[in-house]
Amino acid sequence: MGVETSCFGAVFLAIRTLCCVILPFILPHSWGCSLGQTRIIGKAYEHDFYTHMMEECYLLWAKLEAEANVTLFRRTGILLKGPDDVDFQQLKSILEKNQVPTETLGPEEFIQRLPQVNLLAGEGTLIDTTAGVLYANRALRAVQRVFQSEGGVIKDGYQVTDIQPGSTVTVMTATEVYRAESQVLTAGPWDNTLMAYTGLQIPLQVPIILSKNCFACFVFNSCHIYIYKQCNPA
Ligand SMILES: Cc1cc2nc3c(=O)[nH]c(=O)nc-3n(C[C@H](O)[C@H](O)[C@H](O)COP(=O)(O)OP(=O)(O)OC[C@H]3O[C@@H](n4cnc5c(N)ncnc54)[C@H](O)[C@@H]3O)c2cc1C
Repeated sequence: MGVETSCFGAVFLAIRTLCCVILPFILPHSWGCSLGQTRIIGKAYEHDFYTHMMEECYLLWAKLEAEANVTLFRRTGILLKGPDDVDFQQLKSILEKNQVPTETLGPEEFIQRLPQVNLLAGEGTLIDTTAGVLYANRALRAVQRVFQSEGGVIKDGYQVTDIQPGSTVTVMTATEVYRAESQVLTAGPWDNTLMAYTGLQIPLQVPIILSKNCFACFVFNSCHIYIYKQCNPA
C-alpha cells in the first residue's frame, strides 16, 4: 500500500465515498517505492503545472501533519546545480514566475558555503529554499491511520484475481467479490499487471535507474543544504 493508494483512500473518504483498499501483502510490508526514511520534496520543475501542483501538495502535507499530529516535513533547501543551459534557465524562470523563494550563490559564495562540492565552469546554481525532505515511512503510517480512523477499510493479504469493468466494476479475490461504482488502480509500476484483467494497457515504462555507471540521485547534507543531482541512465 503505497503513498498513492493511501492518499486516494483518504481523498475518497473526504468526499464521503465508501472506500476499501485491496492489496496482496500483509501490512506493514516493504514492497513498493513509497517506503524509506525520506523522500525529497521541492518546487523546482521543468513544467509550470508541476510547480503549481507542489503548492497544493505542501498544503496537503501540512494538513496531514496537523490531522495526524506528527512532523512529516523538514525544510532544508535543495541546491540545484547543472549546466547553465536553456533547461536550467527554464527552471529558474518557472520558480521566479511562481514566486518561489530561491537563493543564488555566486562562485565565491558557493566555494565558501559548499567547499566539498566542485562548481564546474559553465554550471548554474540555485537553491530552492522551500524544499526539504518528507519522512516517508512516517507519512505512510500517518495517512493510513487517517484513512482507517475515517472508516476506510484495508483488506491486506488479498490478491486480486480478476477485474470486470462496466457501469459497476467487479473486483475478485480468491475468496471475495467486490462491486463498486468505480475503482482506482494505484499499484505503481505494477499497474499494467492489474490492468491486464481489463484488457487495457497503459504506456507505462519502468526505467532502470540504477546501473554500474549511474546512480539515480546523489544526496547529502552539508550546512543544512541537501544536494540532489540526477544523472541520465548510461
Ligand atoms: C529509491 C527511490 C527514491 C525516490 N526518491 C524520491 C524523492 O526523493 N522524491 C520524490 O518525490 N519521489 C521519489 N521517488 C518516487 C516516489 O517514491 C514514488 O513516486 C512514489 O512512492 C510512488 O508511490 P505509489 O503509491 O504510486 O507506488 P508504490 O509505493 O510502489 O505503491 C504501489 C503498491 O502497489 C502494490 N502492488 C503491487 N502489485 C500489486 C497487485 N497486484 N495488487 C495490489 N497491489 C499491488 C505494491 O506492493 C505497492 O505497495 C523515489 C523512488 C525510489 C524507488
